[in-house]
Amino acid sequence: MAAGNVSEDRVRTSAYFQFREPAAALRERMPPSLSFLAGKLSDRRPGKFIPRSPTATAEVEVTPGELEDALTWGRTTDAKGRTLMKSAFIEDHYGREDLDGQKLVELAKPIRVEAPPVRNLETAYRLTWECSRCDRVRARQVGDLDVDFEAALDVPGFRHHPELLFTPGRELLVARKWQPLLKAHRVATRPLLGTTNYVQLVVPEAVLLQAERPPLVPGDRCPGCGEMTIDRIELIEGDPPAIDSTGLRVTREQPLTIVPPEADLPALSMSTRPIDDLVDIHPRPEHRVGEGVPADRAKELLDRRGWNVAFISEPLLASLWDEGATGLEYRPVVRDR
Ligand SMILES: [Zn+2]
Repeated sequence: MAAGNVSEDRVRTSAYFQFREPAAALRERMPPSLSFLAGKLSDRRPGKFIPRSPTATAEVEVTPGELEDALTWGRTTDAKGRTLMKSAFIEDHYGREDLDGQKLVELAKPIRVEAPPVRNLETAYRLTWECSRCDRVRARQVGDLDVDFEAALDVPGFRHHPELLFTPGRELLVARKWQPLLKAHRVATRPLLGTTNYVQLVVPEAVLLQAERPPLVPGDRCPGCGEMTIDRIELIEGDPPAIDSTGLRVTREQPLTIVPPEADLPALSMSTRPIDDLVDIHPRPEHRVGEGVPADRAKELLDRRGWNVAFISEPLLASLWDEGATGLEYRPVVRDR
């Protein structure tokens, strides 16, 4: 049941390229082999976060060969030593046939879908310290979430919003029309404040991640609780973003490795530990385990907590495919001890 079973040559791949020059200049020097890209280039208008000189972007579906050609050309440098291409975000879209036989798949957040923020994190959760030496907290949800859907409007490719959304903390929200189907798979839901269009999914933390297998990288281990920070590395070429960077930066999310579960997992489950957390470790004990966290620190600690990876089991996945749910991205999972 490894991801190796997934036929990679069939998986649909899309790429979002950012260049350092305007579209017309790029088209002029583009080799004929990149004709698939030439027509997709469009100029970005200079703005607050966009450089003064016009630059171009392109979103395009690519074969492995086309991707390699585009990146090779993108690495060529101009007179100032800067690569033509500034960054590439590569996304693999696994379809039903690609995931055939997978008992569990990762539920991924589509790159282009914004995560609508939660306005009332600090009152929706009650936090207690989980460790005396680090800022890990246990978060128990005590109120319904107030989600700012307006902040994530204008999702390209979807009328209104997708039917499944992640918040920045990766709470899962789903269009209410899926509630009966989810209920049939014993997935619990809770309402949201201010809307009946979506509900929140209540997802148990049950999947053990292999923190030492790429793309996960273990970080500092807390001497108090023994827990590690886990980062998911998406950067596969180049340096992290910097204002004066001159090279090409390529990011692509890769399948995670999990410890095979002993028993059948629920229809939806989360990883037992968060990833990409930013937890401070203190030189000496600072908290009392189990004691409440001061209210003025709740928001910051929830933001720094990272997020748990969501997984979906085969029977629910099959039902969602059958019913044509949209806005979902899946990724195979590697099972290994
Ligand atoms: Zn700790």
